[in-house]
Amino acid sequence: MPKYSLNLRTTTHEFQKQNSVTQKGGYDILICKHCGLGARRYGVSETLVVKSGKPLSESVLQFCPKAIDPRIKVQYVRVLIKPRIINAGFDNLQVGQIMKCVPCPPGERNRLPGVWVMGVHEPVKLLSGEFEPWEAVD
Ligand SMILES: [Zn+2]
Repeated sequence: MPKYSLNLRTTTHEFQKQNSVTQKGGYDILICKHCGLGARRYGVSETLVVKSGKPLSESVLQFCPKAIDPRIKVQYVRVLIKPRIINAGFDNLQVGQIMKCVPCPPGERNRLPGVWVMGVHEPVKLLSGEFEPWEAVD
């Protein structure tokens, strides 16, 4: 069975731990909440082990096919939940609000899947799960 390694910090898959107690062998089972990709995490390692019945391309490993890919240009989004990161910069965002996306500010690393919208004074980032793409009618 093909075996791959995957960096937890750079992938756009959003893994959720499945087991409450660490498995025999010292690993946790993680599943991507978007696409169901399974992985093992040994200890607190940032490298995950993915075993797959079929070969996986590097891009599928890195970029979840079901999550919103930061490379895809989203024009408008609807805010689904209050952003998880509590920050006064988000005070203008309301659940259900339609926001126009703005470019990723220079110097910001765009590793986590999400989009930038205008916060109170500066662009703020909504992460995957906090928004949905919105077809705007101009
Ligand atoms: Zn995924």
